[in-house]
Amino acid sequence: MALVRHRRQLNLRLPLPEPSDLLLLPPFPAPAAAPPAAISASDLETLHVLGHGNGGTVYKVRHRRTSAVYALKVVRSGSDASTRRGARREAEVLRRAAGCPHVVGCHGSFEEACGDVAIVLEYMDLGTLESVLRSYGPFGEPDLADVARQVLNGLDHLHSRKIIHRDIKPSNLLVNSKMEVKIADFGVSKIMCRTLEACDSYVGTCAYMSPERFDPDSNGGSYNGYAGDVWGLGLTLLELYLGYFPFLDPGQRPDWASLVCAICFGEVPSLPERASGEFRSFVECCLQKESGKRWTVAQLLTHPFVCKDPISGA
Ligand code: AMP
Repeated sequence: MALVRHRRQLNLRLPLPEPSDLLLLPPFPAPAAAPPAAISASDLETLHVLGHGNGGTVYKVRHRRTSAVYALKVVRSGSDASTRRGARREAEVLRRAAGCPHVVGCHGSFEEACGDVAIVLEYMDLGTLESVLRSYGPFGEPDLADVARQVLNGLDHLHSRKIIHRDIKPSNLLVNSKMEVKIADFGVSKIMCRTLEACDSYVGTCAYMSPERFDPDSNGGSYNGYAGDVWGLGLTLLELYLGYFPFLDPGQRPDWASLVCAICFGEVPSLPERASGEFRSFVECCLQKESGKRWTVAQLLTHPFVCKDPISGA
């Protein structure tokens, strides 16, 4: 996957209008466009299933009138109440997080008479980074720098709105053929009300949880969650580079006890010799076991690994 090469091809600039074009502008401001009508179930035609998640199914759908294609995430009423509450919360978080090119877009949500909760999402045609890894194999460093930069920008947007994702991992990062990477699946995310509010620890996928999530007291009880998203990013990059989950041997079946032991008491997995110093340092900054020593998203955005010009490498 040459993310950088594709992005370069797509970096087109729109031409500025010629002065003669400006004379053709209407003398009065054009009337404001009416806000788009809310999408309902009857507007959508189901094409096929894209995947299954926690208590729900995601379908590729097409709008009958506009032909726009979306991903529709449906949580069935038969799912347990907490899963349905999670779906409502996810829609609310997505509304709050709107407007960032690195967070999956939400075009609305609705609840059907039967109790199903449905969220209309921007369709990402290449699926998740996990499926890209399975299809194309491990990523090279330039692609990883591109992924890191995009996810950091998404996290920066979320954290500035006091939203903690709490489940950053390859299967929750979507990608499209414009090589845009977007954070998705906000089913266990949390909106912080107070700055130092404690975060419930046992949500998200255990394998990608940071050490302090298993033992919040280890940080003097001031665990606030933002640093957990950085840990998830570091582990994600390592997995995309190695081709397997770093805390387990390739092919090893995960079990809860050995994972917790490895994450809390084991050595942080190291990179092979061939990795550059910049990549090594970036991953180390993300995977500091003590959350207070871990770099913040704002600091990581200044790290040389993501600041390098992706084209020239300078
Ligand atoms: P989730 O319930 O969010 O974990 O999604 C389940 C699966 O559906 C994911 O692993 C993806 O394969 C697929 N999926 C979810 N959201 C989208 C989307 N916006 N565009 C394309 N595929 C998606």
